[in-house]
Amino acid sequence: MLKISLISLLAVTLYAQQSPPDLVLSNGKIITVDERFSITQAVAIRGGRVLATGTNQEINQLAGPNTRRIDLRGKAVIPGLIDNHMHLLRAGSTWAKELRFDGVDSRKQAIEMLRARLKAAGPGEWVYNIGGWAHQQFADDPKPFTREELDQIAPNNPVSLQESYYQVFLNSKALEALKLEANAPDPPEFVKGSVERDSKGRPTGVIKGDIAGTRAVANKLPKVAPEQLEASTLALVRDMNRAGLTSFGVPGCEADVLALFEKWKSQERLNVRTFCIGGNAAATPQTVDRSIQQIAGMKLFQGDSFIDNVAFGESVYSPLHDPMFALKSNPPADQLEQWRKMAMAIAQAGLPLHVHAELTGTIDAFLDQIDAVNKEYPIKNLRWVLAHVNQINASQLERMKKLGMYAAVHPWAVINGAIMHEGFGDGAYDMPPLSTIQNSGIVWGLGSDGTAANQTQPFTTLYFAVTGKMAGGQKVIRQTISREDALIAHTRKNAYFVFQENNLGAIQPGKLADLVVLDRDYLTIPADQIKDIKPVLTMVGGRVVFDAALR
Ligand SMILES: [Zn+2]
Repeated sequence: MLKISLISLLAVTLYAQQSPPDLVLSNGKIITVDERFSITQAVAIRGGRVLATGTNQEINQLAGPNTRRIDLRGKAVIPGLIDNHMHLLRAGSTWAKELRFDGVDSRKQAIEMLRARLKAAGPGEWVYNIGGWAHQQFADDPKPFTREELDQIAPNNPVSLQESYYQVFLNSKALEALKLEANAPDPPEFVKGSVERDSKGRPTGVIKGDIAGTRAVANKLPKVAPEQLEASTLALVRDMNRAGLTSFGVPGCEADVLALFEKWKSQERLNVRTFCIGGNAAATPQTVDRSIQQIAGMKLFQGDSFIDNVAFGESVYSPLHDPMFALKSNPPADQLEQWRKMAMAIAQAGLPLHVHAELTGTIDAFLDQIDAVNKEYPIKNLRWVLAHVNQINASQLERMKKLGMYAAVHPWAVINGAIMHEGFGDGAYDMPPLSTIQNSGIVWGLGSDGTAANQTQPFTTLYFAVTGKMAGGQKVIRQTISREDALIAHTRKNAYFVFQENNLGAIQPGKLADLVVLDRDYLTIPADQIKDIKPVLTMVGGRVVFDAALR
């Protein structure tokens, strides 16, 4: 028996070595993003994985009679982009209804898009977006919307345009629908003081108040109908593939959308890879014990390279979840004690952790707790991650590195840079301190924290990292990095965050064939054009999931 199976194994191995690739892409500039950042001309793909990379000649001679061929005509190819932190699944329930301004740097164009939406909308139907933009990205005319202006454009439909989690612009129909009236108290779901009013007590149409304030509006907006959820989520996935994204770390992983992903996976038509960050944060001292019980029973890594659960997060003890536009934090000792109890249980269970931490005070306090946890249950190999970290500094990075931790960097300034400068002054120029992070030698990766807090387009993020300019072109940070390091942080390094470094992040023999063909060369175009790069072809596991020529 043993002899036969060894022989058949040998036969399979020989067959595998000899059978030709399914697909060959040649005559290109393959930016492999492997450890040596090698650049080659061609790549061969078989069974959804990269079989070989090399010169045109080396790769073409592998081809057989049934091998499909794509002539890249000199185009650049990069690995499929990975966003280590996007609230992707949550967006499925609103995406088809949202008027997204990601990548729109003209106010005139935004208004044209609004008019077109209104034209297509039914009578009285909501037209809205939930974050992902800020008016300072409009290079032609960076000013907020007013109620009067929106009333003129939309006299008959309620309109709600939410800037990141900073503020919301409403027209009169929206104020009416939300029961925000002159000289009447705000409905109870609105945070005190968040509804801006003029001297006559009339709501101006602006709702402020960070995440809590803006959510009062977002929660009232209609989601897609249940029978539309699949189409809406499909549109979301297609937009991500069009942007060059193929894999995601996903806080939340909402069950209704995850069920669709599972269905598509079983039909071999799931076009993105999803690595969930989940588990229930405690909100009060009374709920900590219950959360700890759940942590002890949590099972990660039961999935595969398309869908898996990879970390606890992104909140541990919710009173210590930094608001987005808070200027500083001073976490109280009693709350930190609850946070530490939770973190201790997470370490004891041997789970990876991916936790929201933005402000210097919070990062210091969390690291103090993690030091204590680490003495009882070493976290060295658990890949604990602090996420967002726009206010991180060199000594914190040093502490994290010693603990074996990673930094998931989500530059909120890509759309919020001008707002951050209003709040933090010159300090905002180092939020995030990208070259300090890069030079620290810590494992770090780029993500967006989209779709509400930030925009979703990776080439806008890469442009920001290389030029220091926010969407629309305003210079908002001074610590920039090379385009090579930025690309590595959005591909190969992010593979570690989703525990897929053997499968993803580089175009390399043995790895999954996730790649993106670009309309121009990321490495040589003027840096200001990086944001304008458009994928022409996106592939996941050797399957074409987006082809610009087919649109
Ligand atoms: Zn967060």
